[in-house]
Amino acid sequence: MASPRNIDSLIFEEGATVEVTETNTPASDYFGRLTFSGDVMLKRLPPDVAMSLAGTIMKGHPLDPKVANTVAAAMKDWAIENGATHFCHWFHPLTGSTAEKHDAFLSVNGDGVAIEKFSGNALIVGEPDASSFPSGGIRDTYEARGYTAWDANSPAFLLTTTDGVTTLCIPTAFASYTGEALDMKTPLIRSAQAVAKQASRVLRLFGADKGVDQVVGTLGCEQEYFLIDQELFRDRLDLVICGRTLVGATPPKGHQLDDHYFGAIPSRVLSYMTEVESRLFELGIPVKTRHNEVAPGQYELAPTFEKTNVAVDHQMLTMHILKDVARKHGFECLIHEKPFADVNGSGKHNNWSLSTNTGINLLDPKAETHTNMQFLVFLCAVIRAVDKHAELLRASIASAGNDHRLGANEAPPAIMSIFLGEMLTDIIDQLEAGKPRKTVKGGTLDLNGESLSNVPRHAGDRNRTSPFAFTGNKFEFRAVGSTATVAWPTTVLNTMVAESLDYMTSKIEKTAGKKPTPAKLESATRAVLKDIIKEHRRVCFDGDGYSEDWPKEAAKRGLPNIRNSADSLPTLKSRAATSLFSKYGVLSARELKARGEVLLEQYCTKLEIEGRTLSTIIKTQVLPAALRAQAELADVVGATQVAGVECPDTEEDLRTLVGDISEMRSGILEVEAAMKDSNDDPEKHAKQLRNTLVPAMERTRIACDRIEGRIPAELWPMPTYAQMLLVGR
Ligand code: ADP
Ligand code: MG
Repeated sequence: MASPRNIDSLIFEEGATVEVTETNTPASDYFGRLTFSGDVMLKRLPPDVAMSLAGTIMKGHPLDPKVANTVAAAMKDWAIENGATHFCHWFHPLTGSTAEKHDAFLSVNGDGVAIEKFSGNALIVGEPDASSFPSGGIRDTYEARGYTAWDANSPAFLLTTTDGVTTLCIPTAFASYTGEALDMKTPLIRSAQAVAKQASRVLRLFGADKGVDQVVGTLGCEQEYFLIDQELFRDRLDLVICGRTLVGATPPKGHQLDDHYFGAIPSRVLSYMTEVESRLFELGIPVKTRHNEVAPGQYELAPTFEKTNVAVDHQMLTMHILKDVARKHGFECLIHEKPFADVNGSGKHNNWSLSTNTGINLLDPKAETHTNMQFLVFLCAVIRAVDKHAELLRASIASAGNDHRLGANEAPPAIMSIFLGEMLTDIIDQLEAGKPRKTVKGGTLDLNGESLSNVPRHAGDRNRTSPFAFTGNKFEFRAVGSTATVAWPTTVLNTMVAESLDYMTSKIEKTAGKKPTPAKLESATRAVLKDIIKEHRRVCFDGDGYSEDWPKEAAKRGLPNIRNSADSLPTLKSRAATSLFSKYGVLSARELKARGEVLLEQYCTKLEIEGRTLSTIIKTQVLPAALRAQAELADVVGATQVAGVECPDTEEDLRTLVGDISEMRSGILEVEAAMKDSNDDPEKHAKQLRNTLVPAMERTRIACDRIEGRIPAELWPMPTYAQMLLVGR
């Protein structure tokens, strides 16, 4: 069996050069070797079973339960040969992370005979205790039963820790005894079905369904993250507990010089990235791009897009591997949306499209876009969906962490708007006025250097400030938080687009009939597109999303600007959201309500943990250091006065320090008071914490950061921003 680059010899010591021995094995030799799919499956299963399973994997056909025993036996042998001793059902509960309960293959019968066993039943169904997972009231603690169910559409894989312990992981859905979804995967799969069904209607209408068995969603998620030295990380209680710094003065140099973005990747970081990539390749994750991001210490990785369901599982695994491998290289990988105040935060860009199983991208505008009515239907369906369900889309990315980005003058604002670019905006203009007659072309760019090639120019520029941008043949939802599970925003997006496609197809069919002539179809489609553009183009905005004018302009257009999660998450309880999700069979009213409650509770709990952590840091670390500095200054003032010399500057320093300490103390009292106010209603509680705890933490932090900038470095009790961000790369 081919093995990846040999990085086992990699030893990290502070300051030492990291050596990576490469065996030059091409990644194609070991890509996917830890997944039960493709070659592995073909080699180990009888042909009829392999065909049946491939039908489920490739075409989404229902799983034939008769094949389960054979598949399980083959999977077990393969896993054991690769060093696994246990298997687990791997699922995405509402915690936002993944969960796994390991069971040994080893089974001992009544005669004390030990054998390795894995039945079809154990492959298909698991029964984890559901009562300790968030359920938003669907399950009480005494109602413990829950089920996990094999999702054969996403390949089983072997997860090996950096210490070499291997477990067979079976991707599964997770539901309650009553059949209600308690996870992220179930509604994602249901939403993918809903959008596929409606998209297929469009294809049938335009006669583009020949040879097409299925429409699938495609997803490619760019992931931003920070790396800091592991030792420094361990000395920061706030990072260890909350994943972000709660105090910390701005370093003298951040990203003002724009010298980090796409800069040369430091060699230690590159070694780390190389090992991450090898691990991901083995898991069949097609990671493609790596680069330095804007902030010092910030990086990005992106895979090639895949079917949504698989892309989501792979995204969760990517976050896990990023963290796991970091520790081996003496780094800590920070995935939080805002680990450092005043330093660029991290997001995830969800590139989303729809495709036929034959590989035709339904968001490809093609050359003569103005004649491509089918594409324009898909485009306008997205425009209508984002405008009509802007608040819901906003809620799909709401979290305590993402509040630091959205609406905080960095990375896409909290106003949901769409960037279309010059070419599409022109066609939308033409459609609004009548029949579109031309497609603006990009042409070529001549750089006027003899040795330089001419560049084929796109028909529109890019826009980094838009939360939802059309980028040539897909939409890029750029406002997703870096820690988020991409399943949820994708579920929301699929469902709202399904509703728009349904609405549009039904309207077109009503005017033109189900089997219209080309001319009738065109005029009926154009009429529907025109109405949609008139009603919904207010959501299209190609300008600077970071400018001060945009929120004002957006308010004039009537677009919602919901700046924080406490205001946004209650949208999930709205009548509009409830009927949308239940109409398309994605979430029942009860399932949706539960989800809203879980998200609000998580928001509150995260804030409270941050409040408690801040209080501990201030009282046990910052305050003692500040008082020591105060005593030192007071000694200087006293001794100077005793010597008969005036020292007004030092006296002033002392007074300022005492003032800052007093402000910090009163800040922390406010923090503690804010946390005493509890409320059984999670919505009210969230708003309460947003109004009291969040500003109190901010006030405390400002005073604390002033103290940090004022007291002797050797007294400061934790690593500074400058040490964490600028040293040790
Ligand atoms: P950028 O940083 O310029 O946005 P990247 O190349 O880093 O671009 O990321 C683009 C992402 O979009 C990749 O994950 C890519 O696979 C994905 N992508 C490309 N085409 C599609 C598509 N049709 N559907 C979904 N994702 C796509
Ligand atoms: Mg991008």
